[in-house]
Amino acid sequence: MGASHTYKLAGVMGWPVSHSRSPVIHNHWIAHHGLKGAYVLLPVQPENLEQALRALPVLGFAGCNLTIPHKVDALRLVDRVDLLAQRIGAVNTIVVEPDQSLTGRNTDAYGFIESLRDAMPQWRADAGPAVVMGAGGAARAVIVSLIDQGAREIRLTNRSWAKAHDMAQEFGPPIRAIPWEDRHDALQGAALLVNTTNQGMQGEAALDLHLDLLPSDALVSDIIYVPMETPLMIAARQRGNATVNGLGMLLNQARPAFEAWFGVCPGITPELLHQVRGTF
Ligand code: NAP
Repeated sequence: MGASHTYKLAGVMGWPVSHSRSPVIHNHWIAHHGLKGAYVLLPVQPENLEQALRALPVLGFAGCNLTIPHKVDALRLVDRVDLLAQRIGAVNTIVVEPDQSLTGRNTDAYGFIESLRDAMPQWRADAGPAVVMGAGGAARAVIVSLIDQGAREIRLTNRSWAKAHDMAQEFGPPIRAIPWEDRHDALQGAALLVNTTNQGMQGEAALDLHLDLLPSDALVSDIIYVPMETPLMIAARQRGNATVNGLGMLLNQARPAFEAWFGVCPGITPELLHQVRGTF
């Protein structure tokens, strides 16, 4: 066995990619577990994605993460896509197999559910209706994860009606598309509220949502992590709701990817949280 078999590379491919926190997370775990390897930024323009993916095995990479704008394009460029990633319609993790072929996976759904469990260990998807705001790429992972966890009613609302409607058609029950203008009323009796829109992100307006009808024991998840606490989360916390931000999803989606590449299932320790929070 040569050094290439013990020294492992992984990285995140995106355009742009310099803002990614993934190197901090994965390099922390590499050091923590005493592994030989590195996780690097891979700035790859969309027109070069196929070439870059095919170079992974040649360059000795165990795999990589994909971020904007590559998550959907990769579906047709890898050798196989696992069932979950097919259903979500996006690949966020590439694994280089022993025969050098490329498998596309999606760990965002796992990351989302684990972030809820970290915030509220007794959380159950069948505890009551979930309201999902937004029907973009991230919403698909959230919705598939909730369905797989046994959610019986998902009220999906999106500024553009067609996307919510189409997603309800695609996934069927338990999804119910709700017109955007009815979003405030949709909170009545909900056990979970998830914001998957970009509203509340740094530089964006706050999500326009009145929480008056949301039960005080509902869990509120905002998958945004810049800022760490969005106006929605502040409003929810002030009225007594438990809240969880997008950092938990980001950290938890990284765990199965790291395990696939490096063979160790890493944890989310206070030291890691401290290090990642220090980058904001
Ligand atoms: P996307 O596919 O572009 O979807 C954006 C969503 O935001 C759409 O539903 C869009 O509605 C909605 N939206 C945009 N402007 C709006 C407005 N003014 N009012 C109401 N809704 C508006 O983006 P994405 O990839 O799903 O990402 C969405 C968010 O999730 C981002 O903030 C991203 O950072 C976050 N995210 C977090 C993680 C994590 O690990 N924590 C992972 C992935 C994404 P329309 O359909 O009407 O345009």
